[in-house]
Amino acid sequence: MMHDASNFEQKTKNAQKKCIAKVALPSPLRSSFDYLVSDKDAPFAKPGHRLLVDFNNRKTVGIILLITDTSEVPREKLKTALALLDQSPLLPEDIIGLIEFASTYYQHAIGETYQIALPSALRKGKPLLNLNETRWQLTDNSSPDIPKRAKAQLKAADALKNFGSLNEAQLKQQGINKNTLNALLEKAIIEQYSTPPTPQSVTFAPSGIKLDDQQTACLEDFHQRPKGYYPVLLEGVTGSGKTEVYLQMVETTLKQKKQVLILVPEIGLTPQTLGRFERRFQTPLAVFHSDISEKKKLEYWQKAKDGIAPIIIGTRSAIFTPIQNLGLIIIDEEHDLSYKQQDTLRYNAKDLACVRAQHHQIPVILGSATPSLESLYNSESKKFTHWLMEKRAGQSQKAAIDIFDIKQAAMHEGIAEELLPRIDDTLKRGEQVLLFINRRGFAPTLICHDCGWIHHCHACDARMTIHRQAAKSQCHHCGAIEWTPIACPECKSTSLESVGVGTERLTLFMQQQFQDTPCYRIDRDTTGSKGQIDEVLESIKNQQRAILIGTQMLAKGHHLPNVTLVIIVDADHGLMGADFRSLERFGQLVTQVIGRAGRGDKKGTAIIQTHYPEHEQLQKLIHFGYRRFAMDILSERKQLGLPPFQHLALIRLEAQDQQEAIQILTDMIQQTAPHYSQVIGPFSAGLARRAHFFRFQVAIKATSRGARAHTVNAFLAIKDKLIKARHRFSIDIDPQDMA
Ligand code: ADP
Ligand code: ZN
Ligand code: ZN
Repeated sequence: MMHDASNFEQKTKNAQKKCIAKVALPSPLRSSFDYLVSDKDAPFAKPGHRLLVDFNNRKTVGIILLITDTSEVPREKLKTALALLDQSPLLPEDIIGLIEFASTYYQHAIGETYQIALPSALRKGKPLLNLNETRWQLTDNSSPDIPKRAKAQLKAADALKNFGSLNEAQLKQQGINKNTLNALLEKAIIEQYSTPPTPQSVTFAPSGIKLDDQQTACLEDFHQRPKGYYPVLLEGVTGSGKTEVYLQMVETTLKQKKQVLILVPEIGLTPQTLGRFERRFQTPLAVFHSDISEKKKLEYWQKAKDGIAPIIIGTRSAIFTPIQNLGLIIIDEEHDLSYKQQDTLRYNAKDLACVRAQHHQIPVILGSATPSLESLYNSESKKFTHWLMEKRAGQSQKAAIDIFDIKQAAMHEGIAEELLPRIDDTLKRGEQVLLFINRRGFAPTLICHDCGWIHHCHACDARMTIHRQAAKSQCHHCGAIEWTPIACPECKSTSLESVGVGTERLTLFMQQQFQDTPCYRIDRDTTGSKGQIDEVLESIKNQQRAILIGTQMLAKGHHLPNVTLVIIVDADHGLMGADFRSLERFGQLVTQVIGRAGRGDKKGTAIIQTHYPEHEQLQKLIHFGYRRFAMDILSERKQLGLPPFQHLALIRLEAQDQQEAIQILTDMIQQTAPHYSQVIGPFSAGLARRAHFFRFQVAIKATSRGARAHTVNAFLAIKDKLIKARHRFSIDIDPQDMA
């Protein structure tokens, strides 16, 4: 064959001419940075490859966005990149597209957006792992010389003849040991070779469950859906069998040789959940969460990218995992706040999941017993298909709910005296009680009985929480820790009182009241890591009488069949919250906590303690359930022009000088003179001062995302003129938390 040498030369020349790389680097600056690519690397440098460069005198890993021959910087001023780190593009085009979308939509620097999307090992410039596997096969040796008495060798040769080739695990399965293998290798009867891994095999274990009508209806719709993007809100009460529906959809998708991505909340990735998927499909899962080692994450990442791992399951950031052959996305507990990142790139994994599903034209399932108002709105307006499962699966029944009016009631450490016998009865039946109180520590306030002094955090606009066991007080906003004072710093009185109740105080009281009953406190102080909480809850599951006292860590996903009485200790806190989303969150939390009760075959009861038993929305929640409650709030939001009917952005500014913060934001509003959106503020954040910084914000509200982007861009355009290094500035698109 003739080689076209001139053509080759031409190509090389083009490559040399086009040797400027626009590189995304970890920098808050918005643009990319230009570097020259060395002649050696130029023919191979392509978008999506990593490039090691000198950035502010530090070796830094960047991603090539574009190869071009022009730069706004004079050529002689450009630095030459140090090394090209990849032989092939690290990221597939769809992920590059997703990252670019996120960078634009959330107004975050492209370089930093890439950083968040990459596994940390790759971010640090480490090479991809070699995942090739070793296999063994027969050589061409046509007359193998195996003596008749070497039974093991004969058997091994036979197996290899039958299967063609075997890997280490398969050899083991066939009972072939190392010695046999080496003997055959020595005689050149077999040979060893290395090959890219093949997709993991999946076995479909029978579920042993007969689907009920609700589940069948969902799955029929899933199977009959039209081709293409298919977003679904699966609204199903706790215990209605949503997970079983997920499993069936996963099975269908895997049978089509496609991969599945499952997102779970930060503390929802329990061994229970993982175990259920592993048992059903008999295949290792590619798991992404904070406890997974860097190396393991990289391995899973590559296996997802190369189509090796069939099931990818992880928390928020797993949404950026490249997946060669994605066929289905499932988002469990879709109402959970942890899907929204609260710093740097403030993305919502749920929204990005929909963007991704749309790109791939595949279904995305958002499941919850208490859907977010956004998702309810999307299903009402027919953007999402709505699947409803109102009954619990199997034998378990819905819990009964009582409201207990605590006005004028005798109280003991937050619990009404009248309720103590009900706790006792439950325990006497060998059942368990769950006390929910969303406040850790002993008490939230230390007050001087003589002069009224209150122990405040020196750095925040907040009170110090007393932690009795540690004899320390802690600020739950900035983490500051001090010895709990034994005398008032103002009047020297020693009559200091702990006011209010946290988990620690309630636990001590319960231990005194029910001395022969094990009490478990479950909050961030007692069960720090995810593994710990799983261990505790697993052990409680198999016990008789017990009392669980915990924060919202208890509201998530755990199946506690022997809990038959749930008490919501302090409902008023949630009913009276300041954020426009407080009530929605309250409804979700209460419904989820109550959902823990009576999930076995025993009927459960939930009791809500409140000073406001007549509260309209509380009544709605109790009598008509979460959906009616939520629809009510939704129509209120419509009237007020709040999300999801209008689109919000929050401009945040933190400064140590309060006046300065207000002035800068006021100037910004004046100089942008926005007329496409409503601009509200500056107003102080829910917590007005944190860690010495005063926190002010401006809300931008618009009827379309386009109008909002227009206004946000106007703010960004003048940002550099007004914001100094001593300030902290951020933009939150579709904010979830205004605190
Ligand atoms: P959810 O995810 O909605 O909370 P699960 O899928 O965990 O509910 O189901 C709750 C319990 O009911 C599980 O123990 C599950 O095995 C069981 N279950 C699910 N579907 C059925 C069914 N059709 N018949 C009997 N039991 C079922
Ligand atoms: Zn005092
Ligand atoms: Zn503080």
